[in-house]
Amino acid sequence: MAFPVPRSLSPSKVSSFTDCGLAFRFSVIDRLPEPPSAAATKGTLVHAALERLHLLPPDGRTLDAALGCLDEAAVVLRDDPEYAALELTADDEAAFRGDAAELVHNYFRLEDPRSVRAIGLELLLDAEIDGVHLRGIIDRLELDADGELIVTDYKTGSAPATQYERKRLSGVHIYSLLCEQLLGRRPRRVQLLYLRSPVAIITEPSDRSTRGTRRTLDAVWQAVERACDREDFRPQPSRLCDWCSFQAYCPSFGGDPAAARELAERLAAERHAAPTVAARPVLEPTG
Ligand code: SF4
Repeated sequence: MAFPVPRSLSPSKVSSFTDCGLAFRFSVIDRLPEPPSAAATKGTLVHAALERLHLLPPDGRTLDAALGCLDEAAVVLRDDPEYAALELTADDEAAFRGDAAELVHNYFRLEDPRSVRAIGLELLLDAEIDGVHLRGIIDRLELDADGELIVTDYKTGSAPATQYERKRLSGVHIYSLLCEQLLGRRPRRVQLLYLRSPVAIITEPSDRSTRGTRRTLDAVWQAVERACDREDFRPQPSRLCDWCSFQAYCPSFGGDPAAARELAERLAAERHAAPTVAARPVLEPTG
């Protein structure tokens, strides 16, 4: 029996599939749970703080206000089961908050938020393009001084080496394509703000890059459908294996993917039997 084909692709799913087909299968098709990660949870916190900051009137977007936004977002995050599952000690929590504050400080080294004219924050875009259902959440959509669109994505991990920049930009090119499809205008600029370094990686979408993004999406979607049909998702060992949650099921580490399938079917049956799932808390702005 073939594996179920995912309903949609997103920038993160495209990146997951091209990094390792088998990890994609475990995450997207089998929907195996992954342990919470302090890095991902910190990213959620900093994104929520910057979202709150950009909801303030422009003159109010100071560093002190941003740190206040971080405090507010941290209060909400405390109720998040993923945060609780990290089981941070008081010292761990102080380090976690201190590092998040440093990322917020670094954000101010990349741009002056008072000059940003955001028209969408944490904006969900959803469209069918060339027969592929695409979904993506844009951290920030804004207008420049000429009224042209700019797509911004915050990153709380390390900036890539120069040779990997193009691959990292592929996600924001998908956002650009979604904007073009839904808003009828191609963004003038798409940018990744790496808060750790801090460094901004910026590019201008063109006819050529748009064609390339469409071709990539088509190729990835066909490869996913084919892999589902043949139940054939292959491991692609790389340094990313060090952070992979699925080593126990991966043949490259002596695991058995069939065991993952059994677990996936058991989890799917449990989800089916318990249709009411506790909603994940949303970090709502208060300003
Ligand atoms: S351990 Fe490596 S090869 Fe195996 S599934 Fe994870 S990323 Fe892929």
